[in-house]
Amino acid sequence: MADPVKDKPLYDAMGYQSHARFWRGLLSNDIGSSAGLDPQDVQIERRLVLYRLMLVIMLVAAGTVLAGALLTKPQPVLLSIFSGVTTLLLAGSAVQIYMQGRILLPPVVSLGLTITTVIWAVSQGGYQQELWLFPLMIALTALLPLRAALVAGGLTLIALVLVQGWQGFGEEIAKHAALFSTWLFSLAIMQLLTRQTDELADLALTDPLTGAFNRRYLLPQTRRHLADFQRYARLSSLLLIDIDYFKSINDEMGHVEGDRVLKALVELIEGRIRGVDMLFRLGGEEFVVLLSQVGAQTARKIAEELRTKIAAQEVIPGRRVTVSIGVCDVTGVDSAEEWLEHVDRAMYEAKRQGRDRVHLDSAPPRDPSSIEGTLSMWR
Ligand code: GH3
Ligand code: MG
Ligand code: MG
Repeated sequence: MADPVKDKPLYDAMGYQSHARFWRGLLSNDIGSSAGLDPQDVQIERRLVLYRLMLVIMLVAAGTVLAGALLTKPQPVLLSIFSGVTTLLLAGSAVQIYMQGRILLPPVVSLGLTITTVIWAVSQGGYQQELWLFPLMIALTALLPLRAALVAGGLTLIALVLVQGWQGFGEEIAKHAALFSTWLFSLAIMQLLTRQTDELADLALTDPLTGAFNRRYLLPQTRRHLADFQRYARLSSLLLIDIDYFKSINDEMGHVEGDRVLKALVELIEGRIRGVDMLFRLGGEEFVVLLSQVGAQTARKIAEELRTKIAAQEVIPGRRVTVSIGVCDVTGVDSAEEWLEHVDRAMYEAKRQGRDRVHLDSAPPRDPSSIEGTLSMWR
């Protein structure tokens, strides 16, 4: 899947017009403002935290290397050059993170160089109190993907052996080996934690049978779309889809067949809606589709298309499976709960009128002028 966030500068992906605004938001601790937990938001916010940390670490590391080089006495020429280049690389990375909201210099190169330089300086007698390196390394491991960290670790180890080779192996090497293994160990723990957090988020937000989002996720998302409408006049619409006589399908064909119908329905709906739209399983045989930037009339057309497709698809050979769909756009409601109530009412009206049909909620829109221009947003 294409990553809409990765492919542009961060401030752009975040919807900020300039990097100055982006950094103002970042520095004023704006992280977490989009509490709707949209997967894209989660990704953006993770990256925001990462960039901030990166910036700080690049600057701290540059200072460390510089101080290390200055403190080392006597000053070998090679170490001075090496420290100078490393400091420049780090400072360059920091400037790029700051200016463009993205990292162009591979951070792993700069960080690998930093660690090498620091250890080199230590071996030359520059750092007597290198214990504070532990927190620095642990912080670094949090930022690197596993493979990158292993490469950086490998480089460090090679540098270590080379340095020790010149000096003769002693108890120093044991100390550095301990440092290195602590680094790798903490890396492994962090990778594990990250993976578990991701899995937990997945479990918390999706329905295990169909893979659609679950009810828990619905309310924050509808709230968010309502706020978008109130703030930016961006329209969106809800569809509530309920399978007709599903109980009798279950009774006649069995639960396994019923489950298969639910999965087939989700597949069909997901094949039709866009990446920006979301499908939720409300429970049982009820589903909600949240259509972004789509007004009532377009939503009704989409619902009609879904209804026909579902009826035409022979999920159960020889038996017609139909749905009733309620449609309601965001214009006439004041809260997410009210919006869901409206769409529920519309769905029941479709049932009442005989099922296998679409019913549009009749609440008068509050701001009719904002309905214009939505058709072109739909592919
Ligand atoms: P209507 O046309 O009025 O919507 O009638 P209906 O039979 O679809 O509605 P009703 O709410 O009476 O029945 C819903 C059924 O959905 C009852 C329950 O057995 C079934 N059901 C709920 N969850 C699941 C599930 O996870 N799997 C299966 N196979 N059936 C489920
Ligand atoms: Mg039903
Ligand atoms: Mg139902």
